[in-house]
Amino acid sequence: MINLEPTKKMWAFVNQAHQVAAEFVRPLSRKYDLAEHAYPKELDMLASIVDGLGESGQGQGAGAKGVRRGDNGDDSGIRNGSNMASVLSIMEMCWGDVGLLLSMPRQGLGNSAIASVADDEQLERLDGVWAGMAITEPGCGSDSAAIQTTAEVDGDDYVINGEKIFVTAGDRCDAVVVWASLDRSKGRAAIKSFVVEKGTPGMRVERLDHKLGIRASDTATIVFDNCRVPRANLLGSPEVEGDQGFAGVMQTFDNTRPLVAAMAVGCGRAALEVTRDMLHDAGVEPDYDRPPHLQLGAAATYLAMEADWEAAYLLTLEAAWIADNGKPNSLQASMAKAKAARTANDVTLRCVELAGSVGYSEHELLEKWARDSKILDIFEGTQQIQQLITARRLLDLSSTELR
Ligand SMILES: Cc1cc2nc3c(=O)[nH]c(=O)nc-3n(C[C@H](O)[C@H](O)[C@H](O)COP(=O)(O)OP(=O)(O)OC[C@H]3O[C@@H](n4cnc5c(N)ncnc54)[C@H](O)[C@@H]3O)c2cc1C
Repeated sequence: MINLEPTKKMWAFVNQAHQVAAEFVRPLSRKYDLAEHAYPKELDMLASIVDGLGESGQGQGAGAKGVRRGDNGDDSGIRNGSNMASVLSIMEMCWGDVGLLLSMPRQGLGNSAIASVADDEQLERLDGVWAGMAITEPGCGSDSAAIQTTAEVDGDDYVINGEKIFVTAGDRCDAVVVWASLDRSKGRAAIKSFVVEKGTPGMRVERLDHKLGIRASDTATIVFDNCRVPRANLLGSPEVEGDQGFAGVMQTFDNTRPLVAAMAVGCGRAALEVTRDMLHDAGVEPDYDRPPHLQLGAAATYLAMEADWEAAYLLTLEAAWIADNGKPNSLQASMAKAKAARTANDVTLRCVELAGSVGYSEHELLEKWARDSKILDIFEGTQQIQQLITARRLLDLSSTELR
């Protein structure tokens, strides 16, 4: 039986996250939207608090590291653990600001990748490291099996060569998890992930991108030119094992997509709440007891958006619940991300519309949320890619059979 009810302890933590988002994160939103590429130094202190909560157990392992499977406490069969805590806390933080959440030290998507596949020695060695995720290249985005970056064995090291683009937190993080091929002639089976620490000779941040939204978050191009990393920095198995190896690397997405869905849920809720207040001030009250066609157009629109949002919220919790219970969640992770990201895009833009000129201006954060939410339907797999994965899983077709 599925149980999407967060535990009491989780609620306490979620409430704390909400308070932090309200008092600390949201007030910084506009400042760092306008000051693109300026480092939000206020987050250093906040990150230490989050670390402290995690270490004290109050955070129940929430955050980027909370996606590790199999260490969620009880084995009763039905449990809500750190995946659930992670998505709930991310929803709150992104109700505050998505760009700032993405700039939070030690909460990178690379941290989730490390938590997903690192062995115990690597986990200990990399504890406290802020890690970005570097998959995308100038010639490869959605088709991640087409990457050109290589990692050649040389003595006790791998030598990495290639260029990665659009690396979130790529300038600020301490390390990046880089996807590279051990042998391009062996196709995607040879793709592995490597931790490359900043300052490693041969690795350089080439440039930062200017963006539509999430401007508080830095997005970098990183070049690897004969960049040497120890063999111990390869995550997972070094064997080239048919498609199983690549499937292992791809599994990281099953853990990170619910997190991106949670970002979308948080951002969408922020827009809904502000819009509801505006409607109230204008004398429009959505009525849950009457059919939409008997209500004002704005109220009916609002109710439809809220229903969509609720579906996204539930799908996101379901994807996390399945992960917490040690079951494969690839289908649900993609469904949650597809639904939540599209909902956040639709809701935020329609809230701008309902608020009219105020919505379009910088008096409110509505226009910003409409810009910020767009990325959630692009990175970690676009809308179309999530739909493709969903279709493959439902129809039981391979990536060769349905592309
Ligand atoms: C702000 C930002 C931050 C990012 N952060 C990171 C990061 O931290 N790490 C990282 O590795 N990458 C990151 N990315 C890159 C992101 O993951 C890619 O942009 C995304 O995967 C899409 O790849 P692409 O841009 O090459 O588009 P393409 O793959 O070229 O796709 C273009 C369009 O075609 C559609 N499409 C592609 N294939 C199919 C198909 N088979 N069927 C139907 N439609 C299809 C796509 O949905 C899309 O609409 C980031 C991007 C941005 C903009």
